[in-house]
Amino acid sequence: MQYTSTRNAALRASAGEAIVTGLAPDGGLFVPVEIQTLDINALQGKTYAEIAAVVLGGFLPDYPAEFLQQAVSQCYTTPFGGKAGHMVSLAPDLFSLELWHGPTAAFKDYALQLLPKLLVQGKQQINESSQTLVLVATSGDTGSAALSGFAGVEGTSIACFYPQNGTSLVQRLQMTTQTADNVAVYAVKGNFDDTQRGVKTAFSNKQLAQELAAKGVKLSSANSINWGRLVPQVVYYITSYLQLCHQGSIAYGDLVDYCVPTGNFGDIMAGYYAKMLGLPIGRLLCASNENNVLADFMATGTYSTKRDFYKTSSPSMDILVSSNLERLLYHESGSDEAVRSWMQQLATSGEYTVTPQVLEAIRESFDAGWADEAAVAQEIQAVYNEYGYLCDTHTAVALRVVREKRLQGGYNRPLVVLSTASAYKFSGNVLQALGQPVPENEFDAIAKLEQLTNTQAPPQLSQLAQQQERFSAVINRDEVENIPLTLV
Ligand SMILES: *Cc1c(COP(=O)(O)O)cnc(C)c1O
Repeated sequence: MQYTSTRNAALRASAGEAIVTGLAPDGGLFVPVEIQTLDINALQGKTYAEIAAVVLGGFLPDYPAEFLQQAVSQCYTTPFGGKAGHMVSLAPDLFSLELWHGPTAAFKDYALQLLPKLLVQGKQQINESSQTLVLVATSGDTGSAALSGFAGVEGTSIACFYPQNGTSLVQRLQMTTQTADNVAVYAVKGNFDDTQRGVKTAFSNKQLAQELAAKGVKLSSANSINWGRLVPQVVYYITSYLQLCHQGSIAYGDLVDYCVPTGNFGDIMAGYYAKMLGLPIGRLLCASNENNVLADFMATGTYSTKRDFYKTSSPSMDILVSSNLERLLYHESGSDEAVRSWMQQLATSGEYTVTPQVLEAIRESFDAGWADEAAVAQEIQAVYNEYGYLCDTHTAVALRVVREKRLQGGYNRPLVVLSTASAYKFSGNVLQALGQPVPENEFDAIAKLEQLTNTQAPPQLSQLAQQQERFSAVINRDEVENIPLTLV
């Protein structure tokens, strides 16, 4: 399989090049030139890692099969405690795909455990001998998952920058207790925007790039537009569908709907690729929080960032520019020229409108809905009361959207909700939704939620309270660009 750019369909790149370079030279995203269908039925009975090896092998034909087999078995067995792709039934037609059994208890682990390995192997394939220094600006979740993935991976190092008082205690400890030699973590004075601006300045500093190059080091990012972050997510759509077959909830070929709590449109886009492989997906239901830019887009064809930005209880979905949507626009319009024009309009005027034909094509596979903060809290309570099931704020957005669509008479097929984080990552919000007072200390909140619901927090979260904080540096935004040279 070869790759091209959403903004220049004449470009060709190997999977290795796409993953190592991240963004196409024209600023577009890498997408497959064509996708051949896969005999998914033949994968029944295989393990998560076995299925991952087959699916990734199709998308990454230049990666040796042995390498992929080894990489996926390292990533998806022990680090996920044997629960990769774990799914539970809430009702005969409603399933929760729990994607939070990995090292940092959120779904980003699926991509970020594997990406470092794909990057190192990709460099080998394109004869890139430099060391990779990854810089990440994080508001919490991405940083911890990236640190965990890159920890100890030879040929790479990673520096994470987070806003000094902008993360939860658990999120901070997930970062600052990392022990590997090749990781570093810094608090930046200010908010997430300040942090991000500091990191962007480092990336655009040409002198820094030259001085690093002289030492054989190249900067890289781990953000979710990298093809290497998207492709691992295709796998769990397939394993969840096959599990429904295995447990007799459906017969192979029956359509299943998926509802995905969405921010940057990466996770749900992986579902679209699973559908292109031939997975019998009915509809991909995109669920947003109060930052409902995608719901408006699917309803009207106009994508507009000219709106208020809300900080919600589902912070990983607080996004106004959903970068991965560009991939869908390319596939459904079939026109790099149209994508270039829309992205240009987005950059200059904050909005664009697709043609009615493109909107209609998108709606053949997608639908959208959103939930406000009160509805999310109600949903956490309702799901707990009805199913005895504890869900986090992001998952609750999706469950709420499903509830409303079903009340309107739609979505009668079996439906899988992607559960993207453990409820214990957002213990305070969840306790509050359940009508409980919220202890000030986050570990007290975790303990209280355990007691109240008679469930257990993922040990990787509760154990953080006992671990030593290793990184305590606090820096100014304009000091971020000085850090890389101190690390090489
Ligand atoms: C990142 C994230 C999302 C959104 O995923 P996208 O791929 O950005 O759409 C949803 N829930 C959680 C918990 C996340 O960390």
